[in-house]
Amino acid sequence: MILEAVGQPLQCRSIARPTPGPGQVLVKVAACGVCRTDLHVVDGDLTQPRLPIIPGHEIVGHIEAIGAGVEEFTLGDRVGIPWLGHTCGNCAFCRSEQENLCDAPLFTGYQIDGGYAEFTVAEAAYCFHVPASYADGAAAPLLCAGLIGYRALRMTGNTRRLGIYGFGAAAHILAQVAQFEGRSLYAFTRPGDSHAQAFARSLGCVWTGGSDERPDTDLDAAIIFAPVGELVPQALETVRKGGTVVLGGIHMSEIPAMPYRLLWGERTVRSVANLTRRDALDFLAIAGRTPIRTQIVPYALCDANSALRHLREGRLTGAAVLVPEHKS
Ligand SMILES: [Zn+2]
Ligand SMILES: [Zn+2]
Repeated sequence: MILEAVGQPLQCRSIARPTPGPGQVLVKVAACGVCRTDLHVVDGDLTQPRLPIIPGHEIVGHIEAIGAGVEEFTLGDRVGIPWLGHTCGNCAFCRSEQENLCDAPLFTGYQIDGGYAEFTVAEAAYCFHVPASYADGAAAPLLCAGLIGYRALRMTGNTRRLGIYGFGAAAHILAQVAQFEGRSLYAFTRPGDSHAQAFARSLGCVWTGGSDERPDTDLDAAIIFAPVGELVPQALETVRKGGTVVLGGIHMSEIPAMPYRLLWGERTVRSVANLTRRDALDFLAIAGRTPIRTQIVPYALCDANSALRHLREGRLTGAAVLVPEHKS
C-alpha cells in the first residue's frame, strides 16, 4: 500500500520484492500496526516524506534473507521494526546517547519503505527480537505505541498520580505498565466519549472523565497523546507544583496562549521525540516480563485506507493492525 502523493488514499500496487543490501535484512511481514504518525504522513502534517513511500513502522515479521555483514540475526528469526530506521552515528546527539534527536535520521514508513506490505527491508542494527509471549498482531503496537508511551512515562519521573489525555493505542499499553509500577492512572477522553472511558476503566484507571473535567486531586504529571494543542493548558491546570506535562505526539495543533500562572510553580511542559534503540531494548524486556494485553483491531493489508479512516474518526478501541495475506 503506497502513498504516491500527500492527501491521496494509499494505492495498492504490485512491486518487485526488495533485496537486502549490506547490513540489511529482508523481512516477511506478519503484522503491521497503524499509528497516528502514519496519518500525519498521509495528511502532509509531516513535511519530509520520501515519495512514493510505503507507510508503517510497527512491523512484526520473520527474516527471509540476510545481507552481507549481519551477525545479530539468522534466517527465520522474528523481529520488530520501529520508527527509527537509521541514524548518522556522528552528530553531537548520536555521540551523547540521544540518537532519537539525530541531525540526519531516516524513519521507517517516512523515508524508508515500511510495513504496509508483504515484505520490507530494514537495517539489522535497528531491528529487535520480539518477546515470544506475544502473537504477531498483538506485538505490533508495542513497536511504536508501546515504545513512545514508555519513553513518555520515563519523562514524567517517579510520579504516583498520572493523567493521560487521549486513550488510544499508546495509552492502553502505558496504562498497564504504569499500574505494574504501582501508579494510579487518570484517563481524560474527548468530552462525552463514554466508550473510551469504559475502555480506560476496564484497564484499571482509577478516574475517567472528559478533558474538560478535573479529578478532585492534583496530579503529579500528565501525558498528552491526543494531537490537540488546547489540551496543554487544560493538563497544566490539573498538575501540581513541580509537575510535568509530557507531549507524546509527533504533531499537535497550535497551543493557545495561556496565563503564566498555569506554568508558575516550576511546572514543566516537554515533548518526547522518537526513541532510542536503548528505549526499545528496555521496553521490550519489560514487555517480556509483564503480561501486557494489547487490544487490536485486525484489517486486511488492502484495507489500510479504512484503518486510517477509522483511526482519524476516533472509532477504534485499541490499535489497528494490518495483516497481509501471504500467497506462498
Ligand atoms: Zn546523528
Ligand atoms: Zn508510531
